[in-house]
Amino acid sequence: MPRVNSRCKAVVSLRQQQRRIRATLERIYLVDEVVAEPNIAAESSSIQPEVNCSSSMNHLSDCEVYNVPGIEAVLTMDDGDSSEPVDEESDVDSYLSLYDSDSQNSCYGSDENLFKNIDWSSSESENGLEDEVKKKRLLSNSGPLGCGIEYSKELCVNVDGIPLYKSSRSQFWPILGLLRNIDGAKPFVIGIFEGTSKPLDVNLFLEDFVREVKFLETNGVILNGKVIPFKISAILCDAPARSFLTDVKGHTAYFGCPKCETKGKYAKNHNSKKGRVTFPTSNARLRNNHSFRTRRQAEHHKGRSLLEELNLDMVLNIPLDSMHLCDLGVMKKLMLAWAKGKFERVKLSKALFCLLDRLMCSVSNFMPTIFCRKLRGVVDLDRLKSTELRQFRLFLGPVILKTILPIQLYQHFLLFHYGTRILSDPELSGLPEMISYADKILKLFVHQSKTLYGKKFVSFNVHCLTHLAQEATTYGSIDTITCYPFENFLQILKTLLKRVQSHSLQ
Ligand SMILES: [Zn+2]
Repeated sequence: MPRVNSRCKAVVSLRQQQRRIRATLERIYLVDEVVAEPNIAAESSSIQPEVNCSSSMNHLSDCEVYNVPGIEAVLTMDDGDSSEPVDEESDVDSYLSLYDSDSQNSCYGSDENLFKNIDWSSSESENGLEDEVKKKRLLSNSGPLGCGIEYSKELCVNVDGIPLYKSSRSQFWPILGLLRNIDGAKPFVIGIFEGTSKPLDVNLFLEDFVREVKFLETNGVILNGKVIPFKISAILCDAPARSFLTDVKGHTAYFGCPKCETKGKYAKNHNSKKGRVTFPTSNARLRNNHSFRTRRQAEHHKGRSLLEELNLDMVLNIPLDSMHLCDLGVMKKLMLAWAKGKFERVKLSKALFCLLDRLMCSVSNFMPTIFCRKLRGVVDLDRLKSTELRQFRLFLGPVILKTILPIQLYQHFLLFHYGTRILSDPELSGLPEMISYADKILKLFVHQSKTLYGKKFVSFNVHCLTHLAQEATTYGSIDTITCYPFENFLQILKTLLKRVQSHSLQ
């Protein structure tokens, strides 16, 4: 009965995790009301996820500070027991328990109780030096009021759609949150829309979310009697979700660039009337918050999103996402050009194609275990995941392609590799001269693309590389403002839903 064994292991793992969380909380935050051990077991045995699907927004979010997944992750990251393997099953279980406690203690709607009153300032601890070290680590992120976490700069929001089943049009559109710059922080659910298509009215979709964020922006978050300023740091999403949320033209429109006022040009396919909008100009006037809100380029806008009512820079605070832009966008496009000749000027011979495939497969045997997914060959190009494309872009590409591509194409790829590598690096991306250098070589990459791969190659994603350095200037490493953590969490949400359905069927 492997299934039962697996489940039992997951429950034991969950209980252990909960004990560690509570023990850590007791030590660090000196919580007065410690829940007795039997209650923990009772909680884990009556797990019921609070993922209620309806066509309206359902808020599942945080109600007590120790139930915020991002914070919980910080508290447990150094608990001294790392021997226990954490599999996806136990990961899902831990989220189930979090939502279960949310459903019991939910205070969404009574905002003054948003966070439970915990004595953060108390220095009394039974565990002496160890606790002091942990407390100092948290306080090193201290906000202006010294409350531990500077919410005003650290909250990222993600919106994306995921299809639920292959056999129906049902889909989720969750609004997720994540506390930035906290090691091990995990995304959490703010609200979920469910329907048979994407939300038709953006302002209906955002109504509850914007109202609550406005309340928090005005009143702050009350924690231990202190008011912590609240501000959304970034809204992270792919290009279609971005244009939907900001109510502007899509990424295939002539005025679709969210960062500059360039006008696209239509490039026809070879021997065909069909084609696509491309963005060959890279020196157009840049957008800013003022120009966006005053509609300086009216053709860019479709309507007025409720997001504009928030304390948000409508251009800078909705950054370009490296996962969609660099990996699923440009890296995949380059591979399509080399392997399938999608852009008429370049195509590898059959022998080189086979060699590329063989090298990609063989090198994956030597990859360290920190890479969670092994790179597959170029034969599986259509099925390559974004993490595999990222592996190739940042680490393997320069080695593998050296014997595959002609020197001109290889050097051109290196511009892309070095530019994005600098902007991803936590140290290099903090140096203005390196950001400026990355900006120059990425612009050169885009410029040379027209010659090497044809005008049609410079579509939305390739053009947006010319704006990527700006994101590093605003946020530091572009890896800190990526959709990767949210994508993983969306899969966990999907698993949750399937498990609930299989339980109800039984
Ligand atoms: Zn642009």
